This record gives sequence, structure tokens and C-alpha cells, in this order.
Amino acid sequence: MRVATWHGGTQFTVDEAPDPVPGPGEVLLKIDTCGICGTDVHITQGLFPGDPPSVLGHEWSGTIVDTGLGVDASRVGMDVAPEPSAYCLQCWNCRIGRHSRCERADRWPRNGGFAEYAVLPDRIVHDLPEGLSLADAAMGEPASVCLVGLERCRTPGGSNMTIIGGGLIGLLTLAFAKSRGIGTTILSDPVRFRREQALRMGAEYVHDPADGPLREMVDEVSEGRGADLAVEAVGKPELVDLAIQAARPRGEVLILGVSPRGTVIPSDLFETQYKELVIVNSFGRGDGYLRAVNLLAKTDLTGLMGDRYPLERAGEAMEAASKVTSKSVKTSIAPHMD
Ligand SMILES: [Zn+2]
Ligand SMILES: [Zn+2]
Repeated sequence: MRVATWHGGTQFTVDEAPDPVPGPGEVLLKIDTCGICGTDVHITQGLFPGDPPSVLGHEWSGTIVDTGLGVDASRVGMDVAPEPSAYCLQCWNCRIGRHSRCERADRWPRNGGFAEYAVLPDRIVHDLPEGLSLADAAMGEPASVCLVGLERCRTPGGSNMTIIGGGLIGLLTLAFAKSRGIGTTILSDPVRFRREQALRMGAEYVHDPADGPLREMVDEVSEGRGADLAVEAVGKPELVDLAIQAARPRGEVLILGVSPRGTVIPSDLFETQYKELVIVNSFGRGDGYLRAVNLLAKTDLTGLMGDRYPLERAGEAMEAASKVTSKSVKTSIAPHMD
């Protein structure tokens, strides 16, 4: 099979690799779509741990084309949404159901998703719910990040929300929060295309940082109170501070964006304490992967999955995914496209 091997920076080569064979308990996945995650971009920029050469990609969807010993052969031909990593089911975290915190997690058993095929343990490979396309199913991991983040918050329905960042995480958080009954919502993003997408997905107001301070708009919308829930969906320390400033006294701040290791929040600790803020941190898919995939099937995802690239153009795809001005919310690799 062909794989796109990452060699550091945005250097990729397309290489022949042995055709993977599923072992006991495993399935062979023919990869349809593999989304480029912000984490993949951070890895290529040296901001998240990763060792080249390797085959990246973990936001995948595809079809089962072979099964190993002990897996029901009738699974061949099924369209599926696999989780981004394999958990052991034996460690302390796995035993209490916190699979995403597995102490022995295998990020990807043989190779990542920028490849024609992958072998995965069947236990992390879930059937696609009705109404969800293979391309959209590649959003399972980011969708669970958003859903689990919201589930960790206590802000009740009807409250107002401010989201900083209109990338996939900000937009799916918006859609899911709306389906959970959140009230008036502002989404802030410098890119017009993303603000338009936010309005299509249910935001009542959008904010362009070039037009003035976010807090002013939050005050207008909340009668000076501040945001009941302020979400940082970018991964920049100054935007975490902006969310802290936007939140009302006793409000909640949800941090979903992943900042590079070593980042320090440039916030006034007095303000966070004086306002008695609850700061909620959430990372990764938590235990919400299946719920998120099912929720995706009930969500209008028009406009989210953007440009698809073949393996040969993986480097170009990575560059496109790292540009905030990209017209594509989610850039992906489609290993079998011509
Ligand atoms: Zn990801
Ligand atoms: Zn485990």
C-alpha cells in the first residue's frame, strides 16, 4: 500500500509499505478520509511531540475490508468511524471507563491515517450511524472534544455563550451547545468566512476583532453582565485571557484550544479570583466518542468538511490546514482519490 511519510516540517514523501494484515481481534480499514488535526499541524511545527519519520493522521473514517481471528467476518463491507487511539481496557483509567486517559494508549497500532489502509483493534472501530457520510465521520474526534468539553460545564440552558475561534472546534461547540439549549451566542473570529459559517450554524452575533474589543459586544448582548460561558477554541494564551475577561462573575471559562507546551496564561489572577470564575479544562475525546459520532449524524454539517487532498499532496494539505485564512474549515487527506 501507499503511505505519506512525514520527515519533519511540511516534508512528506509517498512510499510503498507492506500491505497490513489484521491479527486476532483486528480489522483492516480502507481509509476514506483522514482529517488534518490541529495537533498534526502542531507536530509539524514542533509545538507538539512527534518523531519523524512517521505516518501521521488519526481522524479517520473508512470501510472494513478484512477481519482477523475472532472478529465477525460479516463486518467486512461496513462503513466505520474508528477512535483515534487504542486503549488497553486493563489499566486503572480504562477499568473506570476513562478510555481516553489510558496509561498504555497506542496512538495508532501500526501506522496513522495518511495511508491507504490501517489495521486497528475492532474494539475501537464503530459502525457509522445512519445519515452520516464517510467524509463527515472523520470529524468524530473533534466532535467529541466539543461535546465532552460542554458536558464538563455546568452552565445551564438559556445562558449566553461567547466562543473565541470559528475553526471546527468553535463551530461544532456552537452547534452542540445550541442542541443542548444554550441561549444567545457570540462567536468571534477574524476570518469573514468563518463568521458567516457561525451565523449559518446558529450564532446570534458574530464579532470581528478588527471592529473593536470583544468584551464591548459581550456587554451589549448581556446587559453589562458578561458571558455566562466563555469558550476558548483556538489554543492561544492571549485568547484564554480574553475569555477570562469576557466571562461574568461566577461564570465559566471552557478551554478547548490546545496551546503549545510551556505556554503560560497571561491573566490577572486577581480578576479570575475576584470574579470567582470556574475554569474548565478539557482535552481530547474523553469518553464521548460514540455519543459525538451519533450527534454528528443529527447535526447540519454543511460547509465543514472542506478541501480533500491525495497522499501526494500531504505537505500542501498540511500548509493549507495551518492557514487561518483557509476557506476550508476542515482539510483532509483522501488516500484513494485520484
Ligand atoms: Zn485530532
Ligand atoms: Zn488502559
